[in-house]
Amino acid sequence: MNAMLQSRFATKVHHPARAPRRFFFDREAETMPRAALEKLQLRRLRATLKEAYEKVPLHRRRMQEAGLEPRDLRSLEDLQKLHFTLKSDLRDHYPFGLFARPRTSLARLHASSGTTGKPTVVGYTRQDIATWASLMARSLACAGVRAGDVVHNAYGYGLFTGGLGAHYGAERLGATVVPMSGGATERQVLLIRDFAARVLCATPSYALNIAELAEREGVDLRAGSLEIGIFGAEPWSEAMRRELEARLGIKAIDIYGLSEIMGPGVAVECEAQDGLHGWEDHFLFEIIDPDTGRAVPEGKSGELVITTLTKQALPMIRYRTRDITRLARGRCACGRTHARLQRITGRNDDMLIIRGVNVYPSQIEAVLVGLPGIAPHYQLVVERRGSLDELTIEVESSDPGAAQHVRHHVKSMIGVTAAIKVMKPGEVPRSQGKAVRVRDLRPKGV
Ligand SMILES: [Zn+2]
Repeated sequence: MNAMLQSRFATKVHHPARAPRRFFFDREAETMPRAALEKLQLRRLRATLKEAYEKVPLHRRRMQEAGLEPRDLRSLEDLQKLHFTLKSDLRDHYPFGLFARPRTSLARLHASSGTTGKPTVVGYTRQDIATWASLMARSLACAGVRAGDVVHNAYGYGLFTGGLGAHYGAERLGATVVPMSGGATERQVLLIRDFAARVLCATPSYALNIAELAEREGVDLRAGSLEIGIFGAEPWSEAMRRELEARLGIKAIDIYGLSEIMGPGVAVECEAQDGLHGWEDHFLFEIIDPDTGRAVPEGKSGELVITTLTKQALPMIRYRTRDITRLARGRCACGRTHARLQRITGRNDDMLIIRGVNVYPSQIEAVLVGLPGIAPHYQLVVERRGSLDELTIEVESSDPGAAQHVRHHVKSMIGVTAAIKVMKPGEVPRSQGKAVRVRDLRPKGV
């Protein structure tokens, strides 16, 4: 077994029956030399483009407008000549307008509820579901999960891709899945303990909710079987990572995905935790300047754009994720050759502009989590008074005098002046899945 992996997960005693542990789910794919990987990408990209051109009117029309045909794509660099696909394209062609396969060949539909208007609908063939399960199994293995582990899955089941994505992946890996979904937090604590889960899959905010309830009920999860937390589906800070690791006695791993591309399992951290490996045999990753749409120089940060290489039902050409990150290529300490995405701590859409200062909720989280006497639950309320935006941070503390302390730290760390409302412990609403971090009360369309 890999010595590094052993040392990182050696904080608790392993069951001897589990050894030896397989380190790669798909060694050949995960360690493929770059030249071979790029050759595979080009072949798959050409096939995807041909499908999209022939079967999806939107892609055909946009390529024709640019004077392009699929055969014009001769190198991976030629991808930059192609059009982008936006989230609004999915909404404008609701529900099935971007699908490349007839509805009767779909095995499943998922949808995400938009804050405005129609949901975003995505579809999968049987083959797509199998690919997703394999990539999710690969991601879980990369995060340290092994066959035989009990995986407590607290991601929501349903139209949201988190629950079923993690479920199929864990089963494919050979783990034992507890399909808990979100909510019923007291029961979650009980079953994590009684079923001896080694792995917890959840949103980070909900994992915190579980940790808090366990502490209140006097159940010491840190001393129990849990070793790994697989957290994603919302941006979270390094401070939150340390908090979750300390309170649950785990190694907290960041996983990335989005339903428009597949769902969870697009990228994940390995034990080196030096960025998230994005699975380049199934996805092409680009980083662009969000204002100009042009590629940024290698290693610079910008908006992540993803093209799918193997999706049948819903091929995506240059999907603009709105997520800000940067890419690192070159071999990782773990031996995988796939590019690493820097941890994403904010989506363009989440950014608040308060009196000219750009603020991500995760930045405020990082300040709050580090402050003694402040519980790591918070909501941001944005209102307009006259022509000015006002930010109020609702925090929890048993010390009513904490406000001044918090205001000072937020001002000095982030540069924004905020009003602080100190609530009693338990008063900030607890996450049951994706946390609501911002209540934007500003008039719409102004
Ligand atoms: Zn790695």
